[in-house]
Amino acid sequence: MSIKTDIVIIGAGTAGLSAAIYAQRSGKSAIVLEKLSYGGQIINTPEVQNYPGIASISGFDFAQGLYDQATGLGAEVRFEEVSGLEKADKGWIVRTGSNEYEAGAVIIATGAKNRPLGMEHEKEWTGSGISYCATCDGAFFKGRVVAVAGGGNTALEDAIFLSDYCSRVYLIHRRNQLRGEKHLEDTLRSKENVEFVLNVAMKSLDGTDSLEAVTVTDKATGEERQIKVDGLFIAIGQMPEAGIFGQTVELDEGGYIKAGEDCRTSAEGIFAAGDCRTKAVRQLTTAAADGAVAALAACAYINEA
Ligand code: NAP
Repeated sequence: MSIKTDIVIIGAGTAGLSAAIYAQRSGKSAIVLEKLSYGGQIINTPEVQNYPGIASISGFDFAQGLYDQATGLGAEVRFEEVSGLEKADKGWIVRTGSNEYEAGAVIIATGAKNRPLGMEHEKEWTGSGISYCATCDGAFFKGRVVAVAGGGNTALEDAIFLSDYCSRVYLIHRRNQLRGEKHLEDTLRSKENVEFVLNVAMKSLDGTDSLEAVTVTDKATGEERQIKVDGLFIAIGQMPEAGIFGQTVELDEGGYIKAGEDCRTSAEGIFAAGDCRTKAVRQLTTAAADGAVAALAACAYINEA
């Protein structure tokens, strides 16, 4: 079925839903296409404390608010995975498994996904001791021993969260210095059931049918240590979800969509917003800001066409 709309927005995370809000408020119709569920990465964050004007809110409530606001303004969110993007005489054709959308402009807001360690058994034991989401899976490890891999804000927040109900939490990081914020590190260091395992390389994920231990190598001494754990939470950052769009718009060396602060990509009429775009700071605030900028640029593009 062929459906006409002013703007197709691909991705219903913070950037995509913010774009939908701005597009609808500018008098343009917006259809948001999402392959999974709305909200994006923020739904996995227990508490957001750094969105200006909101002292504290759960990631889930934040996402729900965005969704309600966008759909309340008339944006349509459809759960379909985009399989192709094609230039039309005017604008673009966006294909999914079930429909074809004709739009004057397209905003790609596909975000980023969890970076894997790339180790043997990692894929196989995901769901059998290995997880990328402490908020989603932490409760399965109540009273048990877990490790968190990573040294950024996500790893620190995950370790703090898990330390409240796991008997022991190891924070395993490849350097001596943590990348995450000092106040999170201080909170973690104050916990009696948390041990920092720093300056180590992950050597192996050990077990028979599921994860039973991790072996690390001390980078300074070369000494190996096996740590028995029931669970490992991998929190080593994200990778872009630019996927099939690399055939249409230019990507940078990291796989992010090349677009400046105006969110314009190398393809006319296609804009990139949020974590999938080349940028220095990937935060909720910058994703929301990108959504606004991309939507207003897309509206101006349609008006000028
Ligand atoms: P991140 O800041 O990129 O940190 C990733 C961590 O994983 C780094 O410590 C990095 O080590 C380590 N790492 C990367 N690749 C690795 C590998 N192959 N093997 C082992 N370790 C590896 O990622 P993030 O913590 O997910 O955060 C992403 C963004 O979201 C950041 O901008 C962060 O500030 C933001 N965020 C903010 C909040 C908040 O403000 N409340 C919460 C969560 C996330 P190195 O340090 O050695 O590079």
